[in-house]
Amino acid sequence: MNYISTRNITEEFSFIEAVTKGIADDGGLFVPKHIPKLNENFWENFEKQSFKETAYEILRYFIDHDEIELDGIVEEAFNFPVEIKKLNENIYSLELFHGPSLAFKDFGARFLASVLSRYAVKNRTKYTILVATSGDTGSAVGQAFLNKENIEVKLLYPAGKVSELQEKQLTTIGGNVTALEIDGTFDDCQRLVKQAFADGELRRRKNLTSANSINIARLLPQILYYFEAVKKIGREGEIILSVPSGNLGNLCGALIGIKMGLPVHRVISALNVNDVFNEYMSTGKFTPRRAVPTLSNAMDVGAPNNLERIIHLFDNDIDLIRKLIKTTSISDEQTLETIRKIKDEFNYVICPHTAVGFASLFKEVTDINEKKCVVASTAHPAKFYNIYPEEIKRVIKIPEQLKISMEKEKQSVKLSSGFDVFKSYLLG
Ligand SMILES: *Cc1c(COP(=O)(O)O)cnc(C)c1O
Repeated sequence: MNYISTRNITEEFSFIEAVTKGIADDGGLFVPKHIPKLNENFWENFEKQSFKETAYEILRYFIDHDEIELDGIVEEAFNFPVEIKKLNENIYSLELFHGPSLAFKDFGARFLASVLSRYAVKNRTKYTILVATSGDTGSAVGQAFLNKENIEVKLLYPAGKVSELQEKQLTTIGGNVTALEIDGTFDDCQRLVKQAFADGELRRRKNLTSANSINIARLLPQILYYFEAVKKIGREGEIILSVPSGNLGNLCGALIGIKMGLPVHRVISALNVNDVFNEYMSTGKFTPRRAVPTLSNAMDVGAPNNLERIIHLFDNDIDLIRKLIKTTSISDEQTLETIRKIKDEFNYVICPHTAVGFASLFKEVTDINEKKCVVASTAHPAKFYNIYPEEIKRVIKIPEQLKISMEKEKQSVKLSSGFDVFKSYLLG
């Protein structure tokens, strides 16, 4: 499979080229040249396969045999389970948060780390990975690259603007992963990363790479767990999927799966009040705007990157997009209400992002008891411990991986938000 830019369909790139470049030179995003269709053979074996076996089968369509050692990478990257919890006859929670950083981003980050580190070793090249993070991405990427040979990771986060637990997760990874505490905002962190990539001297002296969520190697693994969901609930009946959405990457994974032939009838893109995608669906116009902070902070995105990929996937035809996808916008008040409702009805605690997914499902689907509805549960509730009322806090079990980081001492390098300081730090 070759890859093309969403902005230039004539020039083709190999998978590894697309991964190491991250973003196309024309500013577009890499997409597979075409979306492969699954044949009958695939479905015959499907039900008996493990997650990793299906993962390998699907990824093989997108990555050529001779490019990377796919079986070893699948084995290494997906070393934690995908679980599905049946809440009642019609509603399922697809738990994507059993990885090292307790959010679905572990799938993409670990896959990218496996691919890139093997490539770095094979080519005897050292890479420095720069990541600006507002919380979840940093710990997923940092954990994924921990102890990978020939790779150094610098996580830039805004001082005082990530939650206490998120900061603990970011600053206690150690090894080849350094947390840079920037005296500024998330936008300052992103600006520093962009300036570094644009700086000639830095580019000459350091091999800088991004582990940004738009990287194609972070997108492809996000197709896989939707197949796992369908495997576990069965292919028959009408399946509806609700995906808590920010940058629309997770949604994009689901859409590629459906284009391949995954039998899902409708997809709900669940948004918080940062609902630029919702506006696009109703007006046909994409108007980025400044993100406002919400309880589901990983979804506070004012300019969703992956919309460009979605538009490309549907041949620029908004009516085709509207046929499959419904968008909804949920307030913080509704988010909290839904957390309580799910706890009361099912004795099940969900994170605020997942709550946006459930709230959107209830808002958009009136005949739930005639469908099979799957909500993508994107993070473990313990990551957001402080937002819950006492009676819910009491029942949240803190996972081992979080306990470990909570007990460790915070380690960070404090930097001002000026580029010169950052540059001389990188050049050491
Ligand atoms: C990143 C994130 C999202 C949003 O996913 P996108 O792929 O950016 O749409 C939702 N929930 C959680 C917990 C996240 O970390």
